[in-house]
Amino acid sequence: MEFNKFNEKIIKQLEKLNIKNSIDLITYYPFRYELVKRSIINELNDGDNIIIDGYCEKLPVVYYINKKMNKMSFKINIGGNILGVAIYNRGFLKSKIKIGTPITVYGKYDLKHQFVTANNMELSLLGNETRIVPIYHSTYGITSKQINILIRKTNIEVKNIIPEYLYKKYNLLPKGESIIEVHNPSSIVKLNKARAALKYEELFLFMLKINYLKMNKNMIGLSRNVKRKDIDEFVMSLPFNLTMDQTKAVNDIYKDLISGKRMNRLLQGDVGSGKTIVSFIAIYINYLAGYQSALMAPTEILAVQHFNNILKIFKNYGINVGLLTGKMKTSEKKKICADLLENKIDVLIGTHALFTNNVMYNNLGLVITDEQHRFGVRERTNFKNKGILPDVLYMSATPIPRTYALTLYGDMDVSNIKTMPSGRKDVITILKNESEMREVLQRIHNEIKLNHQVYVIAPSIEESEKINMENVYDLEEKFNQAFGKICKIGILHGKMSGKEKDEIMNRFKDNKIAILISTTVIEVGVDVKNATMMVIFDSYRFGLSTLHQLRGRVGRNDLQSYCILISNVERERLNVLTNTNDGFKISEEDFILRGGGDIFGVRQSGDMVFKIADIRRDYKILLKAKEDSEEYLKSNHYLGNKAIENFLIEETDLG
Ligand code: ADP
Ligand code: MG
Repeated sequence: MEFNKFNEKIIKQLEKLNIKNSIDLITYYPFRYELVKRSIINELNDGDNIIIDGYCEKLPVVYYINKKMNKMSFKINIGGNILGVAIYNRGFLKSKIKIGTPITVYGKYDLKHQFVTANNMELSLLGNETRIVPIYHSTYGITSKQINILIRKTNIEVKNIIPEYLYKKYNLLPKGESIIEVHNPSSIVKLNKARAALKYEELFLFMLKINYLKMNKNMIGLSRNVKRKDIDEFVMSLPFNLTMDQTKAVNDIYKDLISGKRMNRLLQGDVGSGKTIVSFIAIYINYLAGYQSALMAPTEILAVQHFNNILKIFKNYGINVGLLTGKMKTSEKKKICADLLENKIDVLIGTHALFTNNVMYNNLGLVITDEQHRFGVRERTNFKNKGILPDVLYMSATPIPRTYALTLYGDMDVSNIKTMPSGRKDVITILKNESEMREVLQRIHNEIKLNHQVYVIAPSIEESEKINMENVYDLEEKFNQAFGKICKIGILHGKMSGKEKDEIMNRFKDNKIAILISTTVIEVGVDVKNATMMVIFDSYRFGLSTLHQLRGRVGRNDLQSYCILISNVERERLNVLTNTNDGFKISEEDFILRGGGDIFGVRQSGDMVFKIADIRRDYKILLKAKEDSEEYLKSNHYLGNKAIENFLIEETDLG
């Protein structure tokens, strides 16, 4: 069946999972598998979760509890043992169940009453074999099982893309067969083979693209006639002196921009190391040469922050700066777009909106993306620009270990900012037990008395039955009891609307809120200089890199700042943070201790999202893929392979 033949409701649900067509659907891979094996009736203990099959012994009876809820009861014969079964909301199956109908039930076993409270059932026998059940990330309104059924209904032909000799070299399963196997596993051995083939293909194509870009790195780009003296004068006019690493980064960028070759540079530096000003200088260089610049931030808050900052910095230079975000009125957007096309705007700052289809630049020369956002390939092709492809600068506060960087960013040049601006005091980080809460509150109180502000982080929004951890709403209550009389407390979390979030964030910026209780949604780049304390509850729940980034929200000027990590467990791991403020070191440690999931976990966008491969776990495959793709490119054989050629050209805009 074809994708667009599914009913509309299903298509809507799938869209929430970012599945927009048949290909998306069949490559929506399970994130784990469950082994389902028939329980043996004589070996069951009371309370076991069981899966058991037999034949209907006594016809079902359905009770309607209310309009929306019914309960069906029947008896099942399992090799002579009779079990009672109850299951909710399956009344619709009643007419299909006759005496002797085969039934498999999944549920909880009650030994004394010889009874199963089932949560699932199927009208078939399980058989003796172990079944491997794929589990998918699902969303409200569609279950993992439904996703699997939809995928199995979708039969489209899938061809091998990567060259056949590689299939032979590693004895890989053909792609079509692999896809069937991962959604409908026949055995663990074959499933593993299928997954390996898909991972290899994914990583091969990724590395092929990276290497192709690298090969074309010295591609012709814009050259700019900009005098060094003008840049130096601009730098002198800034309210502070650049650090040495900032100066080096500026030099790198200046050289790139005047070189006549296309820039593709990654600017890495810890939170607060001062990447933004470097990007503004790049924008200034580009402006002097007469080209437009675009600066893309991952969120509205950050876009607005950049916008306000750049207005200050460019105040006396007659540079026109525009702001474009998704939530602006259509009429406002239209005006901005018109100005942009007429070259009345020199610098456009915004969110993803910058590269939507109707935004056309007059002579875009430079694109900068802030905070961990590497363009997805699709976005890269979306530069609607008259003229040559722009230079590109990526900024990231999540350094990744060198070995990985060389591979994953192989197509880019890298500038690192390792030193913090002078006068900055290291954030003092303290690890506390839950039993030491009095002292923590005392420390918070001290900051409040100084009219400083405090961030408080909780891992979840509201109380959850399953996991015992601090949540925003509980903390709000507790903090109101402790501090409500002396200061204002605000909350921020991901379920709030964008507008609500912005409002709270702005009030915090204006010091109208002293304590901000939040999940990790507070943005990486948010700059509130007066905030001097970060308190993180249940901090063991976070990776070191995430904690380090959270901590980077404080210590943004010469005030001594503090980070208090609260946890009774994993103290050794957390102590890495009390010992160092070096983001590069921390990311290495994170890799060793937690396996990088955290580092790549935050890169939720752009090229880094793999559907089945996991960079760290599949690092060996990645290295093979790297080697193979280099060899393949060198051989020039790709030039005859239409699928690959299209993939490289379409997806990398280097046509
Ligand atoms: P990040 O690298 O995290 O994006 P920012 O660019 O937001 O860091 O810089 C953090 C703060 O440090 C900003 O308020 C910025 O104005 C300030 N800053 C940047 N460079 C310097 C410097 N060389 N000396 C003093 N302050 C600086
Ligand atoms: Mg920043």
